[in-house]
Amino acid sequence: MKDIKCGLKTCKFNKGYGCTAKQISVSKNADCTTYVAKSGTRTSDFEAGTDFAKSNFSVDTAVGCQADCVFNKQGSCAAVGITVMSEDSSNAGCLTFLKK
Ligand code: SF4
Repeated sequence: MKDIKCGLKTCKFNKGYGCTAKQISVSKNADCTTYVAKSGTRTSDFEAGTDFAKSNFSVDTAVGCQADCVFNKQGSCAAVGITVMSEDSSNAGCLTFLKK
């Protein structure tokens, strides 16, 4: 899936509101469990890395999912795209979730 929009700028896979992970997992509660907080402080090296990553943006992320969602096809997400956001800053939830 190439169209993942993610509002969690604090995740290390987030580049310009896109997801650069090769694979993510979404839990039964429709939370993205692949979220990894960025570590360290912002340095000039880090900023350069972010710029380079932008040109490599068509990451085809595999989305494994356990949620009881209409887009869930045998443990994989079949939606064209998903949006991930944090509702309370403590978890990364899939907003595209539609209960079966
Ligand atoms: S849209 Fe549904 S199937 Fe796809 S990742 Fe979100 S909760 Fe899982």
